[in-house]
Amino acid sequence: MIIRAGTVVTMDGPPIENGAVAVSGSRITNVGKFSEISKQHSTEEVVDLDDHALLPGLINSHCHLDYTCIRGKIPRQESFTDWIRAINAEKAKLSPEDYVRSINEGFAEAKRFGTTTIANLTAFPELVSRIQAPIRTWWFAELIDVRDPSRANEIVDAAVETLKSAEHWGLAPHAPFTASANLYRRCEEVARLENALLTTHLAESREEMSMFRDASGPLYDFLKEIGRDMADCGRKTPLSQLTEILRDVSTPLDMTESWMLVHLNELAKNDFDLFARSRNQFSIAHCPRSHAYFEHSPFQFERFCELGFNIGLGTDSLASNEDLSLFAEMRSFQKEFRDVSAEEILKMVTTKSARALRRENSLGRIRSGFVADLIAIPMARSTSVFEEIVAFDRVVSW
Ligand SMILES: [Zn+2]
Repeated sequence: MIIRAGTVVTMDGPPIENGAVAVSGSRITNVGKFSEISKQHSTEEVVDLDDHALLPGLINSHCHLDYTCIRGKIPRQESFTDWIRAINAEKAKLSPEDYVRSINEGFAEAKRFGTTTIANLTAFPELVSRIQAPIRTWWFAELIDVRDPSRANEIVDAAVETLKSAEHWGLAPHAPFTASANLYRRCEEVARLENALLTTHLAESREEMSMFRDASGPLYDFLKEIGRDMADCGRKTPLSQLTEILRDVSTPLDMTESWMLVHLNELAKNDFDLFARSRNQFSIAHCPRSHAYFEHSPFQFERFCELGFNIGLGTDSLASNEDLSLFAEMRSFQKEFRDVSAEEILKMVTTKSARALRRENSLGRIRSGFVADLIAIPMARSTSVFEEIVAFDRVVSW
């Protein structure tokens, strides 16, 4: 099959005017000018998307489809800790059937907005076998052992057993304030053995910073109240806490490329010294609209770029966002970082998020041999193609 489009935005070189992509099965076999591709594949059916831009399907680096049904249910809270209390209260009302429905609705919505790959954290890995994901999905088991840290290994191993049937999976120790050091270490060990991806929330809120650095604040009080051992608080930033946890299983900040760190909003100066010394290039997921919802400190995008880190965008869950559109996420980022070009922003939901999933050689570009995860959006040609893509605010119909 040949797909012809007014512009083919390959993310692998300049856009191709009057371009075409040849597809066989689920793979791209050729890309170029329509005049050349049609000669080389003269017997193949042509799908004509004349006044459209054809581009790689978008990749969501971080979300929680479990909570699609909590959209609009949590009014803005005084503190991050109050938000945790509020989401816990909402979660208590939900049954496994509610979660299955919520995840399915989330998939359908993400797909409507042109997302073809998703890094989805689920607190219920046992439900994964009941769901037919309509798009390419990395299922990350979100793991918490704050109420029973003696069961860390058991919790990780049980999640791995249920997830192994999924095509792509990984582990997500929730955050250093809810997952024990042993749970993190077990995840790191399993990921090495199974060549699986790892992701975790880190340095998301000011309250997480004051908990670990100052042993004070609402999050500190809340977790102490539910029985967490707070002996690790009062000395370190969340980042140095995590590097210390992983010291026994990997050199400090010698974190493998398997890690995708989510948020990194609240960082101290010595954290940037740690980053500067780190040799391995783990990825970072930034969620612009969730960031705005919580009014976190400014995301240090330029500093991370200078240090060479790979940054992808995610939507986070609908408990702190209004929809699952990565186009809206790109616009929110653009509002905050006006000097970053629309092309660079598009990379954060295509090539860069593919790299975060260690699939930079098969996802996120239109290139021969890559998977044919393609979307098309109508072009008015009023501005640059990349600006027009970022500005697109409707449903992706193709
Ligand atoms: Zn999250």
